[in-house]
Amino acid sequence: MKIGAPREIYEGENRVAMTPDSAVQLMKLGHSCAIESGAGVKAGFSDAAYAAVGVEVAADAAALWSGVDVVVKVRPPEPAELARMRQGQVLISFFYPAQNTELLEQAKDLGANVIAMDMVPRISRAQKMDALSSMANIAGYRAVIEAGNNFGRFFTGQVTAAGKVPPAKVLVVGAGVAGLAAIGTSTSLGAITYAFDVRPEVAEQIESMGAEFVYLDFSEQQTDGAATGGYAAPSSPEFREAQLKRFRELAPEIDIVITTALIPGRPAPKLWTEDMVAMMKPGSVIVDLAAERGGNCDLTVPDQKIVTDNGVTIVGYTDFPSRMAAQASTLYSTNIRHMLTDLTPKKDGEIFHNMEDDVIRGATVTYEGAVTFPPPPPKVA
Ligand code: NAD
Repeated sequence: MKIGAPREIYEGENRVAMTPDSAVQLMKLGHSCAIESGAGVKAGFSDAAYAAVGVEVAADAAALWSGVDVVVKVRPPEPAELARMRQGQVLISFFYPAQNTELLEQAKDLGANVIAMDMVPRISRAQKMDALSSMANIAGYRAVIEAGNNFGRFFTGQVTAAGKVPPAKVLVVGAGVAGLAAIGTSTSLGAITYAFDVRPEVAEQIESMGAEFVYLDFSEQQTDGAATGGYAAPSSPEFREAQLKRFRELAPEIDIVITTALIPGRPAPKLWTEDMVAMMKPGSVIVDLAAERGGNCDLTVPDQKIVTDNGVTIVGYTDFPSRMAAQASTLYSTNIRHMLTDLTPKKDGEIFHNMEDDVIRGATVTYEGAVTFPPPPPKVA
């Protein structure tokens, strides 16, 4: 089969779903590869770099979409892009089917088989295809770098001839994939790092990374907000109050807050309130990784960086992985390549779309003219 990556047309999107290295791996599975001219440039991969490993360079989007059997992409397609697809053609991309019901219908009507990378089941066997995690890892890292870039001081404490510098104090709220990456980055830069999550089972992970878990004075911590399938559930009002009370105590002494708290299928919980921002020192920084889902901070403006009257910078960017396009493209294209490895079991360049396979079935949202989302629960955990 021929596999191709178009240029991403979403404004500001710098990633690409195929790199020269991932193309080499796809060719080892018996496939041939194509790239739309210029698709990799913003991630640091020139047309020449693709051509050098045997990837065909298609002149434009029309040539790419019509010339391949499988389209690999980062962002969900625009309706006009999707309209280029034909019956039986495969699309592998982030798709967010629950939010993009019209796109789902369009894909079904076209007879395109869509594999949504955001729907890959989060089971051990599928970790190598877990693009949500690989992108969250980058977002967590980049959030700390972004914070540092907006913070006028060192992370690590220093004693120099020019004076004594205290270490920065960083609080990470939410210790999922992005939060843990932020904690690791923050501690490795030398900041005193605190972290909180409603799932008490992450305390050990947080502490093993050299950060301090923020315990609440609340007896239900062991059960409240307990995970459902590894994810958080909404907190009770009493638990939330205990959490906010503790954050209010911390706000005056914390220099940098990285918020990453999300609850599946719901808007982001508001955890860093306006009065907490007002209590922070001038020069402090908040990076809100939940900005796309409404933000964990009351004052976050999605896609923008603002500075409050008391001198606190609040970063609400929603495109952190794209801001590290080379790394993000390398990891994402590897996730895609692993998906294609499972779709090519005989390594003979033929796609076997095995709907009996939990991972392939779970991620497939349209197949042979039918909507196949939501999938049945996976058989293996
Ligand atoms: P997420 O992005 O949905 O949420 C981020 C974090 O916010 C979670 O840790 C959640 O507990 C936390 N949170 C929610 N409400 C909060 C609140 N009020 N205060 C503080 N924190 C709050 O999570 P994610 O990064 O996608 O990971 C979710 C889970 O899935 C984790 O347990 C993770 O280890 C697990 N996971 C498993 C796999 C796998 O393949 N086995 C892969 C990825 C993630």
